[in-house]
Order: sequence, then C-alpha cells, then structure tokens
Amino acid sequence: MTYHVGVISGDGIGPEIVAEAKKVLDRVGKKYGHEFLYTEILMGGCSIDATGVPLTDEAIAAAQASDAVLMGSIGGNTSTSPWYKLSPELRPEAGLLKLRKSLNLFANLRPAYLYEELKAACPLRDDIIGSGFDMMIMRELTGGLYFGARETKDVDGVMTAVDTLSYNENEIRRIAKRGFDIAMKRRKKVTSVDKANVLDSSRLWRKIVEEVAADYPEVTYEHMLVDNCAMQLVKDPKQFDVILTENMFGDILSDEASMVTGSIGMLASASLNDTKFGLYEPSGGSAPDIAGKGIANPIATILSAAMMLRYSFDLDKEADAIENAVKLVLKEGFRTIDIMPQDSREHNEHTQAAGMCTEEFKNAVGNKIVQVGTKEMGSLIADRV
Ligand code: NAD
Repeated sequence: MTYHVGVISGDGIGPEIVAEAKKVLDRVGKKYGHEFLYTEILMGGCSIDATGVPLTDEAIAAAQASDAVLMGSIGGNTSTSPWYKLSPELRPEAGLLKLRKSLNLFANLRPAYLYEELKAACPLRDDIIGSGFDMMIMRELTGGLYFGARETKDVDGVMTAVDTLSYNENEIRRIAKRGFDIAMKRRKKVTSVDKANVLDSSRLWRKIVEEVAADYPEVTYEHMLVDNCAMQLVKDPKQFDVILTENMFGDILSDEASMVTGSIGMLASASLNDTKFGLYEPSGGSAPDIAGKGIANPIATILSAAMMLRYSFDLDKEADAIENAVKLVLKEGFRTIDIMPQDSREHNEHTQAAGMCTEEFKNAVGNKIVQVGTKEMGSLIADRV
C-alpha cells in the first residue's frame, strides 16, 4: 500500500532528525511491502526566509492533501534570531498554530514510557519505578481555558482579569471517543481527569465520558481529580494507561509525566482530528544550540513516525517493529549524547573521534555504553526494524 506523508523538516535540528525518521520508515516500507511517498512542506523560519510568512496557503493545502504529516521542529534562538523581531503572527510558531487550526487537530497524544536502560534519568525512586511505566496522555487541544473569551478590565477601580473555561458536549465526546479508541490499542484502561468537585465544565466532562464509556465495554475506566492525578503520577505512575483530560490539565500533567521519563529527545507526540489524519512530531523544539552538529537525538521523531503508522495507517505490526528496534538499540548500549550516563561520555568521545562506523564501534567496545551521532542512531534503528 502507498501512503502520502507530508514532511515538515522545519528549522534547527528538524531536518537532521526528520531525515533519520524517513530512513527508518523507508526500511519498514521495504520490509513490510509499503511505499511512503513524501511531500516536503515549508513551515516555520525556513518558510519565512523563502516566502516571507511562516506558513503559506499552499503549504496548508499540501498538508491537507497528505494522509498524515511528520514534522521535525520549528523556530530558532528566540533571543538572537531575526525571526523574533517580526510581529507575533509572522514568527515561526504562528505557522504551527495556524496549521493545527486548519487541520482541526483537537486531540494531543503524548506517551510517557520509561525505558529500562534509561531508568537512571528518572528522578523517581527505584521502588516507585518498579518494572517501569507506559502511559499515554490524551489532552484536548482546541477548547477550554486557553481558547475561551478573556479580558482585563477596571472594575470599580480594581484591575480584574477574566478567562473563560467552556466546553460543550460535542467537544468532550469527540476527545473521549479518541481516548477510548487509543485505549483499545493499548492496555484498555482510561483514567479521565477533571475537577468535578468544583467546576461545571468538569461535571459535564464526567457525564459525557460516562456516556462514551458505555460504548467500550472492554475498557475499564475511572475518574480522578486533577490534584490527585498530579500526586499519583509521581507516587505510582505504573497505574496509568490512558489519561484523558481537558486542555489546561493536560498541558500541566503531560509535562509532569514527561519529566519522569528523562530526556526530551525521547518524547514523541501526535495531534489528531476526527479522521485518521494526524500531525506527528517530537515534543522538543528545534534545539538551535546543537543544530548542525550531528548530535541531536532522533529517537523522539522516529517514535513519532511509529505513532503515525499505528494511529493514522493502522500498521500496528510495523509500529511495534520500530518501537522494538529502539528498545534493542538502547539495550545494546548505543546512546546519543543527551542520554549518555555522565561517566561514560569522556571515554566514548575518544572512540567516536576515531571515526569508526557503528558496527566497528560495537565490536570495539563490546557491550559498553557507546555514544553515537544522529545519523548512526538512525541507521542502527533502521537496521533492527
Ligand atoms: P528545545 O526543546 O529546542 O531545547 C531545550 C534543550 O533540549 C536544549 O538544550 C536542546 O539542545 C535539548 N534538546 C531538544 N531536543 C533535543 C534532541 N532531539 N536531542 C538532544 N537534545 C535535545 O527548547 P528551546 O531551546 O526552548 O526552544 C528552541 C526553539 O524551538 C524555540 O524557537 C522554540 O519556540 C522552538 N520550539 C518548537 C517546538 C515545535 O516545533 N513544536 C516546540 C518547542 C519549542
């Protein structure tokens, strides 16, 4: 089967990490008999340089015409880049907001998975980590407090600011369905997070989630208050499978969940609409501090490509192959610099300076931890799908 993938390489490390994800996808295609056809789409700083705006109508049309979009990251150094002297609607990030809106991407998915080999990066105690955790935060992305009416005004001589938190039943139902669908592909458990003891919007959230749950008898579900969820994420993260929640709660909880997994270079994400279409991207930014050095970690982007296979193309076996290849490479001891244990960095800089290819690396150092660059990491994963 042929899949049309829109590719937004973007700025900074974006082109480097996207190239590795395409390398892995192409290997999957070869092995499992699929064809991935890529359409390059300009967005962010590179689009400003080429067209004067961060996202053109042609770019939106190209994204809409794709089966899914794989993205690197956009933006530059916000202190020094000339892009940030432009008015806000012309800056790189405005392109991403416009694209999300144009594609009606209302559901954001962020997995938080702790790799056995990267346990040292987890700030939690060993007895809490246990055999690790694997959860998915499903956050509503286009409603709630961040999109409600807001104003700051003088009320009887006192400055007063108002933000509006509003959800209608349709907005809740569509994200809840997405959450239960995702749970069906996982361990079949949904924890719906709200503040129903205080907020009307949360009481409606709870009611609609219960209605949706009735259509998914195989999925167990529970309700949890957001303050309790924030505690449970550090007290017992193993209990969670899919966490389903509204925009602001999800913003905060997904960052908390990702912090307990370690490096930003490992964190994939997806934004979905009510079709099979999705935008898949690493959670990190364009990392201008390391752009062009060949040391960025491509794993988050490669795992985002795996999510694309699973959620947009229903290629679960192929997605498993990528995820297992990532686990294997970590198990074999290969690391980009951001996930290297501090004590191994110096030794491996010498090994890498010798200019060995990855197989030579492995033979040279046996099962030790080996530092590799962006391209080597991509090739190692591609070789193992
Ligand atoms: P950042 O995520 O780009 O970088 C933070 C730190 O994490 C840096 O030290 C960086 O080197 C490191 N890092 C990030 N990704 C890495 C990877 N794959 N491998 C190794 N290390 C990695 O955040 P920032 O510096 O605050 O932002 C830089 C630019 O990225 C800004 O213009 C910002 O607006 C943009 N940004 C874009 C997106 C997006 O495209 N969705 C998301 C966040 C930030």
